[in-house]
Amino acid sequence: MRYDWTKAEVQAIYETALPELVYRAQTVHREFHEPDRVQTCQLISIKTGGCPEDCAYCPQSAHYDAGVERQGLLDPEHVIGVAREAASRGVTRMCMGAAWREAPAGRDFEKVLEMVRGVSALGMEVCCTLGMLTESQAERLKEAGLTAYNHNLDTSPEFYGSIITTRVYDERLKTLAAVRKAGITVCCGGILGMGEKESDRVGLLWQLATLKPHPESVPINMLVRVEGTPLASIPPLDPLEMVRAIATARIVMPASRVRLAAGRKQLSPEAVTLCFLAGANSIFVGEKLLTTPNPGRDEDEELLQSLGMKPLESHAG
Ligand code: SF4
Repeated sequence: MRYDWTKAEVQAIYETALPELVYRAQTVHREFHEPDRVQTCQLISIKTGGCPEDCAYCPQSAHYDAGVERQGLLDPEHVIGVAREAASRGVTRMCMGAAWREAPAGRDFEKVLEMVRGVSALGMEVCCTLGMLTESQAERLKEAGLTAYNHNLDTSPEFYGSIITTRVYDERLKTLAAVRKAGITVCCGGILGMGEKESDRVGLLWQLATLKPHPESVPINMLVRVEGTPLASIPPLDPLEMVRAIATARIVMPASRVRLAAGRKQLSPEAVTLCFLAGANSIFVGEKLLTTPNPGRDEDEELLQSLGMKPLESHAG
């Protein structure tokens, strides 16, 4: 396991001829993972819209009018019910997302803890994304049974300011450190297709690959261009860039789960297959990812079945 990758090394990997890159990634993948297994994760928005941050890709930002209906924090019973139903379909990880700048104090945080306790009691892995977190909040989430905390770096530090102006990269790194300190695993990745250059995609992968330890889960998202957000009319990303990024992530962070996250609906079944070949071994299932569309449940099942892939068992115990 290496944490001292140089940017030039990551770039050289990223630029390898595609067949060679995919072959290399698949070789690494087989050393660390079962090649026919894919983890299915369910994402639920527990608090939607009205976020004070200005992430240019996000329909939940209060800065843009993307037609997202705001919804306050859901009732823990409801969330636990959704998780129970997902578990009965073989889903092993429940990810709960809230559109907050930072995790709140008081009653709302207690409610989130109740959700974490309830979902964890079902034997599922539980992940939350609640914005910035203090060390003591991270500790309380850990006590409640939280498996992972999602906090994406989104892109390279150089491009970050073109996408978000309401916070800085270092604040992201600080929350990641608080999560680590509490003994919670890290889910951290980014979004491709936001108008960044190849060097920014490499810069993001390099940042992730030099975190010690590596994030256990690395979501690679393809921008979903939502009307009303500043990135609505950005040209679509070549799906092969997704393949390159996933393969590079697999090579530089061999033991991590690399998640083909948002934007899967924009990829053909062949492109998704190439992403699996490149080392992706986790997907989101369900018709919606927070507020953007995802392939339906049947489509997901059909694809995995046609590829002969099986769901990964939960490690939550
Ligand atoms: S990505 Fe998260 S932090 Fe950014 S605007 Fe959307 S909900 Fe808020």
